[in-house]
Amino acid sequence: MIKSEYLQKVYAQVVTRDPDQKEFHQAVLEVLESLDPIIEQRPEYENKGIVETFVEPERVISFRVPWVDDRGGIHINRGYRVQFSSAIGPYKGGLRFHPTVNLSILKFLGFEQILKNSLTGLPIGGAKGGSDFDPKGKSDGEVMRFCQSFMTELSRHIGQFVDVPAGDIGVGGREIGYLFGQYRRVQGTYAAGVLTGKGLSFGGSLVRTEATGYGLCYLTQEMLGKMRSDSFEGKTVVISGSGNVAIFATEKAAQLGGRVVALSDSNGFIHDPEGIKLDIVKDIKLGHRGRIREYADRVPGSTYTEGFRGIWNIPCDIALPCATQNEIDGEMARTIVKNGCMAVAEGANMPCRPEAIQEFQHAGILFAPAKAANAGGVATSALEMSQNSMRYAWSFEEVDRRLKGIMVNIFHNIYDAAEEFGHTGDLAMGANIAGFKKVADAMLTQGLI
Ligand code: NDP
Repeated sequence: MIKSEYLQKVYAQVVTRDPDQKEFHQAVLEVLESLDPIIEQRPEYENKGIVETFVEPERVISFRVPWVDDRGGIHINRGYRVQFSSAIGPYKGGLRFHPTVNLSILKFLGFEQILKNSLTGLPIGGAKGGSDFDPKGKSDGEVMRFCQSFMTELSRHIGQFVDVPAGDIGVGGREIGYLFGQYRRVQGTYAAGVLTGKGLSFGGSLVRTEATGYGLCYLTQEMLGKMRSDSFEGKTVVISGSGNVAIFATEKAAQLGGRVVALSDSNGFIHDPEGIKLDIVKDIKLGHRGRIREYADRVPGSTYTEGFRGIWNIPCDIALPCATQNEIDGEMARTIVKNGCMAVAEGANMPCRPEAIQEFQHAGILFAPAKAANAGGVATSALEMSQNSMRYAWSFEEVDRRLKGIMVNIFHNIYDAAEEFGHTGDLAMGANIAGFKKVADAMLTQGLI
């Protein structure tokens, strides 16, 4: 519930302007609900029209992407880039290639990205882009031709001081390579800092692969220490998913002394009470893109159960949802609470529904929201940009040290913001306020633009 009349008016305007953009409305509402205390304290945000400016993207680019398949068939997809905010730095955010991509989803993700990027403490604005192209089932040649066509148009709108895209769903190292190659060709310049998530041989950064999962555990460790005088040591951990974020969260949680006992994919979950053997998971998932059920065939004493939702029936001290959006509803949250969990930290984007977050907060369980907890990926992308600017590559240890420092700072930043505004321990509110305040103050000082 938004209390301030000003914020209510801004939200009503967002809905009236784009009545079909449900995901965008949801994201805006979640943030505006947290801003009441700061709007009361800082009337200049209302007087200078900061919030209505903040919820409107600076620029939305939409373009056609023609490409030819292996049989000579012609296809037209739609490409987008939502350049949401450049108040604190060049636009920064991923590209998603997935059939569900539309403006509502990209505006929701771009809006969240502004706050996430602000929380990293690094000078990066917020953006998101992509296409309704589906890379699944396409040949390498088809993916390459699509990426080249997409970049031919996008290239005129991006640049290392303008807008720096990265990967997201459907855009991994292969796609970033094709996109970078085409940018280089059409612009006739070697500007490595125009994209992040690059291969190590052409300007990529060490630790970028591990960054989101590692960062999630660094923030969770700090939260446990500050708010419960505790740590991962000796804790039972359940992690959903078995992709990039889940695998490297498993690795770091184990290094910090936790025992990860379950992982999942979209078909089902594995349970290994002795602790997941990560080398076997990596062999299955990274080695030959297999299914997680193979683990139970290879590890005596472990079990596989069909259906991914059942994973949350396994009792744990720490829950790290790292699969997909809206996977934990109110009922599952009640089970997690009943089983004695002490902390939930979001590795995926929006894995917990609003009613699940309420359950955790009412039960006094620690809850770290995605925009803070999974910011390690984009933070390390920003470190990749720094290395590109310096034409220098830091060691694994150096990047990891910086990542850890950033995640620890994010935790204290959001904890302090929640405390300052009278909601001690509400890290979701703290993340929204701290992320917004930095961008809003930059907007105030730069005037109406
Ligand atoms: P991956 O594609 O590498 O892995 C996703 C994992 O989640 C897979 O194991 C997938 O299983 C599983 N999954 C997908 N849908 C479901 C479902 N409905 N139920 C259960 N499991 C499911 O993605 P990432 O690990 O990179 O991303 C995971 C989440 O983290 C996403 O929300 C992403 O936006 C977010 N994120 C990722 C960042 C990064 O740096 N990679 C940065 C910030 C956020 P299957 O193989 O069966 O599809």
